[in-house]
Amino acid sequence: MRVFNFSAGPATMPLEVLERAQSELTDWRGSGMSVMEMSHRSPEFVSIAAEAEQRLRSLLSVPDDHAVLFLQGGATGQFSGVPLNLAAPGQPAAYLNTGSWSKKAISEGEKYADVRVVADEKASNYASVPDEGSFEVPGDAAYLHYTLNETIGGVEFPYVPDAGDVPLVTDASSTILSRPLDVSRFGVIYAGAQKNLGPAGLVVVIVRRDLLDRARADVPSALDWKAMDAADSMLNTPPTLAWYLVGLVLEWVEQQGGVEEMGRRNKAKADLLYGAIERSDFYSNPVQERARSWMNVPFLVPDPALEKPFVAAAAEAGLSGLSGHRSVGGMRASIYNAMPIEGVQALVDFMTDFEQQNG
Ligand SMILES: *Cc1c(COP(=O)(O)O)cnc(C)c1O
Repeated sequence: MRVFNFSAGPATMPLEVLERAQSELTDWRGSGMSVMEMSHRSPEFVSIAAEAEQRLRSLLSVPDDHAVLFLQGGATGQFSGVPLNLAAPGQPAAYLNTGSWSKKAISEGEKYADVRVVADEKASNYASVPDEGSFEVPGDAAYLHYTLNETIGGVEFPYVPDAGDVPLVTDASSTILSRPLDVSRFGVIYAGAQKNLGPAGLVVVIVRRDLLDRARADVPSALDWKAMDAADSMLNTPPTLAWYLVGLVLEWVEQQGGVEEMGRRNKAKADLLYGAIERSDFYSNPVQERARSWMNVPFLVPDPALEKPFVAAAAEAGLSGLSGHRSVGGMRASIYNAMPIEGVQALVDFMTDFEQQNG
């Protein structure tokens, strides 16, 4: 019996993918072994890796002048990878601060670059994004970094910021593949896999090739985009099983109709859940409407003492992972690509019942 899993990450994966992996687990397509037992240099694994890259390229229409890397160390590793690959020591680097993950990127960035926070949503209590065109990026900045979707705060950019000639860098961990994105506007997009792409253990980095010559001499090899690109992301042993599973998830997204279809479904799911919150006087969501995330929906009940009973009763009803992040409390429903609308409907029905009993 599978539950509806609203966890923010690691997160729910498509059942079809899990079953396919199960069917191939002990003998991958006649190779006589599991993917996790294969050499990463074997023709079998090299084909698995290349196919996953091709699928991601095709799903996101990644331009040929962008490299696609499959690395380790998570999105957190890339908080350092970005300045180490793009900024000369002490060079200015611009950041937008829209919440918890922005702040983590900023504090890692400060170790290596002269960080300039050019917009900060403190005044909105991190419940929105800066207005388009409301901030200025220094012309000598190595890049402009922003968090496309704040997984904890549930704040998502409804537009792509304009950084002029300065390379645009985004942390797309919890929103990649959830709807169309114009990759050609970006210098760098990075995303940890454990939200929308598959299991934990892998971070995807999409980087415009002309930016590969900017790395500091002391960049660690495991974070060195140029060296990783030259080695097809196999400068060292990659997380082979995670890479294979991401490939299966990408194939699943393709079969569902690609990112346009994902966008349609995700919009419908988000509308259903936000609509229920809006209509009720019991539940609330603190985020300004235009910046509401399609992927992570935080919500509150009138009395914090009801949070634990809510989460416990929801779990009883087969709705798992609804606690808010430990840093902010409340509740949060993560409704990634693999969450069907039936799961969101079940959550809305449960919320209605809970309100009737406790409101
Ligand atoms: C989950 C997440 C991270 C951290 O990912 P790790 O793989 O744990 O390093 C960073 N940024 C965002 C937006 C996230 O959602």
